[in-house]
Amino acid sequence: MAKTSWCILEIILSGAKLHPSRRLPPKPMTNYSSGVVRVFLYLFITVFALILLTLVRSHTDDGFIHQLGKNCALVAFVIIALQAALAARIKWIERPFGLDMIFRYHKAAGVIALCLIVLHITLISWGSGRWYLLDSLHVQWPVWLGRLALLALVSTEVTSLWRRKLNIEFESWRKLHNALFVAILALGFAHSFKIGGDLTAAALRVYWAVALAAAVTVYLFHKALRPARLKRNAYRVTAVRQDAPRVWTIQLAPPAGRTVSPYAPGQFQYITFRRGRGLPVEEHHWTISSTPTRPGIASTIKEVGDFTSSIGQTQVGDNADVDGPYGRFSYVFYPEEDDLVFICGGIGITPFLAMLRHMHDTQARKKVLLLWSNRTEGEFVGREELEQIAQSGAPELKTVLFLTGVGKDWKGERGRIGKGAIAKYLAPQNGITRGAYVCCPPPMARIVMPALEGLGIPAEHIHDETFSL
Ligand SMILES: Cc1cc2nc3c(=O)[nH]c(=O)nc-3n(C[C@H](O)[C@H](O)[C@H](O)COP(=O)(O)OP(=O)(O)OC[C@H]3O[C@@H](n4cnc5c(N)ncnc54)[C@H](O)[C@@H]3O)c2cc1C
Repeated sequence: MAKTSWCILEIILSGAKLHPSRRLPPKPMTNYSSGVVRVFLYLFITVFALILLTLVRSHTDDGFIHQLGKNCALVAFVIIALQAALAARIKWIERPFGLDMIFRYHKAAGVIALCLIVLHITLISWGSGRWYLLDSLHVQWPVWLGRLALLALVSTEVTSLWRRKLNIEFESWRKLHNALFVAILALGFAHSFKIGGDLTAAALRVYWAVALAAAVTVYLFHKALRPARLKRNAYRVTAVRQDAPRVWTIQLAPPAGRTVSPYAPGQFQYITFRRGRGLPVEEHHWTISSTPTRPGIASTIKEVGDFTSSIGQTQVGDNADVDGPYGRFSYVFYPEEDDLVFICGGIGITPFLAMLRHMHDTQARKKVLLLWSNRTEGEFVGREELEQIAQSGAPELKTVLFLTGVGKDWKGERGRIGKGAIAKYLAPQNGITRGAYVCCPPPMARIVMPALEGLGIPAEHIHDETFSL
């Protein structure tokens, strides 16, 4: 019975079908209405406690400011509970937006919740005239629980917004973030349940318990159930190839009897390599650099830090838990765009390799201008393949390579890709819808994105992917 319940939960939350080979491919179109429905649902859940309160309570003795302070906390707690769902990579939630947008909102929602809690404390103290709530040590223990929840919330925001400045390593931050989330949820729930004046109404208490139970369930799914399922159905490394100094392509195959989850070229996946030999076990995201038109699945990975420095030690036969695909950085999601500009820096080429391979295999009638910069000549991974694709004529591909470092015999362009360089190669608009795709380090994106808009490409046709979520 318990196993069946978990199984149903797994199917609902992961969007998985009973047998992976029967999973639906990602929906190709941008479905704005499905996105709008999800946004409204989110907003409705967020303010539902207030609606419930209005329905079940006939009058209150609290003044306006006092009640406003209480309302802030009601909304903040639900926002915090919903953070579990936003972070859990639930396909139904991410599909219309892409995971990067969901994570950006998740970050902003944390700040909104903190602001609401600060307002809650200030307005309650002001409205009730009990300013001692702010600083007195002699308060009831549930007030202390609230204070601890606030402390945990402030710590979460500070460490999330300024992780790099504070020099916190990603894996340590992730563990801290998870622990703080559990603390905020538990302390916030206990505080409000014990002294929340509005939570005396039975309907509100039920809603509160449901919100907590839902957050805990989603959290357990994300942290325990899904990882266990991925481990049970681990992929196997079938090839390890060095493409350039510090760049490796790892080919993976699904377990016997299973097929690769349908993906669009340019999407990314989370991989946890399980290699033994004392090598680290961490979950990281990488673009799927292969194309769904060919068997297996591959990622092309650059050595940039702690974990990736060991990627070359991966061996054929090693296991890998694969979770994906995610994201909307794929030309197949925007079929109305036929004249494409691809701009990337360094290893940001990987989604474009996937898309160009796919266009080639499907004989897509697309026109593509690829502008790609690297510091050294050796970093242009897959250059020969790009030449072959260009020669085949499908797609109609023009590649311009930019070298930003020193290269004595370099015959391509030099320097960084900016507005001038893009304008030089961008053919005049020919009536076909133009779409631009940018995958490069943030400083380069800050130059390229406005340049593209300045050259007349509407913002809704400019798509970007940054390699840090
Ligand atoms: C959507 C997406 C697609 C990507 N595609 C590719 C690709 O095709 N090829 C490629 O080489 N790289 C890709 N990356 C970047 C890749 O995820 C990082 O290079 C890698 O995680 C760095 O790990 P590290 O421990 O070696 O580096 P570190 O130097 O330890 O970390 C560098 C940065 O990587 C991020 N990071 C580190 N560990 C993790 C983790 N466990 N989970 C999430 N982020 C982490 C953090 O922002 C950190 O500051 C992609 C990233 C994203 C978000």
